[in-house]
Order: sequence, then structure tokens, then C-alpha cells
Amino acid sequence: MSSPKKPNLVSVTTINDDGSRYFLHPADVTGFWTRVRRLFGFFLILVYIAVPWIPINGYPAVFLDIEQRRFHLFGLTLVPQDLWVMFFTVTGMGFALFFVTSLLGRVWCGWSCPYTVFLDHVYRRIERWIDGDAIARRQLTAAPWTAGKIFKRVVKQLLYVVIAALIAHVFLSYFVSLPRLYRFMQEGPLQHAMAFGIIVSLTLTLWFCFGYFREQFCIIMCPYGRLQSALTDDDTLNVGYDETRGEPRGVPGRTTGDCIDCHRCIQVCPTSIDIRNGLQLECIGCTACIDACDDIMTKVGRPKGLIRYDSKNGFESRPRRYLRPRIYAYSVLAVLGLVALIVVASMRMRPFAATLSRVGVSGFASDAEAVSNIYLLRVQNKRNQEATISIRLADDSPAGYQLSGGNQTFSVGPLGELTVNCVVLAPLASYKGSSEIALQVHAEPGNVTLRKATRFLGPNPKAIKPPPP
Ligand code: SF4
Ligand code: SF4
Repeated sequence: MSSPKKPNLVSVTTINDDGSRYFLHPADVTGFWTRVRRLFGFFLILVYIAVPWIPINGYPAVFLDIEQRRFHLFGLTLVPQDLWVMFFTVTGMGFALFFVTSLLGRVWCGWSCPYTVFLDHVYRRIERWIDGDAIARRQLTAAPWTAGKIFKRVVKQLLYVVIAALIAHVFLSYFVSLPRLYRFMQEGPLQHAMAFGIIVSLTLTLWFCFGYFREQFCIIMCPYGRLQSALTDDDTLNVGYDETRGEPRGVPGRTTGDCIDCHRCIQVCPTSIDIRNGLQLECIGCTACIDACDDIMTKVGRPKGLIRYDSKNGFESRPRRYLRPRIYAYSVLAVLGLVALIVVASMRMRPFAATLSRVGVSGFASDAEAVSNIYLLRVQNKRNQEATISIRLADDSPAGYQLSGGNQTFSVGPLGELTVNCVVLAPLASYKGSSEIALQVHAEPGNVTLRKATRFLGPNPKAIKPPPP
């Protein structure tokens, strides 16, 4: 069995000179950061799985109902008219992520990204249970195909597929809800070929990614991984190596630096980089090298923290600056998104909304009997239940004016919208010229009344000839 490949700064460790894949077997590590990160990972997995089960206002806590074009988010329902809010919310979340990255480096990748969470805390764990530690795994890979090796490989891959299928089902439940997903499963794949196709293709993709592709996704595919370099600076906290303290590296007792060049930090690294070469694109900030090095420092009787979270300025003994212009800028932009979300949430608390606009270029029409104005009334039902909308002319409108067709009543579906042309007539005998009128919109359930005032336009009353007797 050959020894693990040594990282260099010329090429990625996982790519051999001939372009083939070099498969990594990161060593196990224990320590403070590993424990905290594992607990956080399990908590996140619980959240991912639990969210579609938690009902709020009759819908799952997060239900992205693409078919009905409604997004239910923790009791708030967004419809296509709320696209502007989605824009601010999504960009606000994006800037919040920028803010965190500028402050704490690749904390998203190492701690919260679902890909890392499932790879590190589920798939690598299964692999350790079945194949053993890094040395045993490397030996098993190099060993000939015996019955024992085939058995281990089959069991491992079966577990990989089953878990990939479970994740695919949880993922789909965010878009179709659990009761519907359960119905799909009962009715069978032929009845729901599209959903079945999504599950199968997602399961295969996840199986490929977690079972084989692994760290390659972070190293060569993830766009956010590339973007993050532009978000960090010399004051960003990253996992790094204290070169001043560690160098010159070498055998304990014979050198002045604390690094004993044991390569333990490389062995535990899931992307197999040498953090002593400085911050690199492949580092996902998983903290494994911190725990590995702290363990070595304890064993050789030196202080922990040779590899630690610190900024470039911190490592080089310059003053650390946490608050800086880019932090302010990202905070403001993230807060804008939050404000947009609060605004729409408070608007959505109102059960109905109505707008009234004039139809036609001239604004009015007149004949020998009456002057008429046409308006377009839109009523939005913001509730998840059917509503009855009644429309009439407000009592304080000029006497004699009428709503053509009399008072009107309509039904509007949950989160639906009513659009109706309202014709207001002023018989010539009652016509007083241009004046204020109002439409009254009453909505049930909830006994909500909205008043929409507007102007009734018409010709100069003196210019109107009275109708012949
Ligand atoms: S684990 Fe620590 S002591 Fe060992 S090589 Fe890495 S930095 Fe040096
Ligand atoms: S260098 Fe350290 S923090 Fe970065 S990926 Fe490797 S082990 Fe994780």
C-alpha cells in the first residue's frame, strides 16, 4: 500500500499527474471543534427533516408550492405579486451570507452547507462504521476483490442509496408537502411519473455526489466557493496556521518552531491541503486540522492554537479590525432585505387589499340619459380560505348616483384575486359635475370593509342640454 499523496501548491491533491482521480481517505479526528461541529450538523439535519412536518396556518412551515405558485414560509404566504419581496428577501439573505463570510470566512461551507453536513456527518460516518479508519479504508481499497470486500462494498453502497433516496424524498416534500408525497407513494410511480422521475434522478445524483464525487464538488464545482475569495480580506477570521510560531518546522527539540512536521493536519483534511501553505481555495473551514494540531501540541507539551481561527492580521501580530467598511455595507444590504420581509409580512396580516383605477382615455362617457365612469376594481384575498366580496357605492356619494347592475357579490378563492369593471352612472337629473365618489368593498369572513374613494368625471353640467320633455 502506497503512502498518502503529499499536497503541493502546483496542482490539486485529488488529481493525479495523468488527470485521473486520487481518492482521499481523511483520517478521523476528535476534539472541541469536531464535537461542536458534529452537534451543530445533527441539529441541522433534524431541522431539514422536521420543517416539512411542522404545520403553521394549515401549511408546512416551508412549502414552496410551485404548482399553485404560492410560497408558504413560516406562516407567511407569498404569491407571484410578491415577487419584489422575494427579490429583496433573497438578496437580503445573500448579503447576510456575504456579511458572515467577511467576518468568519468559510463558516457556511464547513458548518452549515447541506452538502458538507450530509457528507461529513452521515456518509463519512457510515463509511467509517463499515470500512474502518483511514488506514483500513486505504488497505481495503488496495486489497483484491475477496468475498469480504464485496460484502462490505455492497452493504455500504446500499446504505448510500437508501439515504440518498430518503434525502430526495425530504427534498421533494418541500415542494409538494408531505401528505401529497405520501399519496404519490401510495398511488405508485405510473400515476406520478414526473415526481417519480425527480426522486430517481435526485437519488442517483446524491448517491454519485456523496458516494464518489465528494470533495470534488467543493473544489471544482461550487460557485460560492469561488466567490468567497472576493468576500474575505486580511481581517476575516479563517482557519489558519501561525507561521511565526510554527516555523522553522522539524523534529521536536532540534528546531525553534512549534510545528513538528507530523503531517497530521494534512491527514485529517477532507480536501487534503497543507494549511501551512496559507489560505487556499480548497479549504472549506471544517476545523479538523485545528483539533488534529491541538492534539499534537498537547502531546508534545506546547500550547494549543498553532492552527486556529484568526485573521491574517492576527497571525502577523497586527491589530485586528472586526468592523470595517465591507461589514457595514453588507449589514445595511442584509437589513434592507429583512425590512422588506417585515413590510410584506405586516401587509399580509391584513386579510384583504383593494385598488381602484379608472378605465378609458377620456375618463367618462355621456348620452341623453346619464354620465358614466368606468373603474377597474381589484380585490386581493390574502387569506388561505375562500372569501365573499360585496361591492356597492358608498352612502356619502352624491345622491342619485348608482352602480350599474346594483350591488354586486363575488366569491374569491384562497389567496385569489378578483378583477371587476365597475360602471358608475349619474343620471342627468342628479348630475352635479365632477365630484368625489367612493366604492365600498365588504369582505367576509372577518367583516372587513374597505373604502376606495375616487373622482367621478364628466362634462360641465351647464353644457348638458336637458332631455326633451
Ligand atoms: S499538525 Fe500541527 S505540528 Fe503537525 S504538521 Fe500540522 S501544523 Fe505541524
Ligand atoms: S485546511 Fe483545515 S479547515 Fe481547511 S479543509 Fe483542511 S482540515 Fe478543514
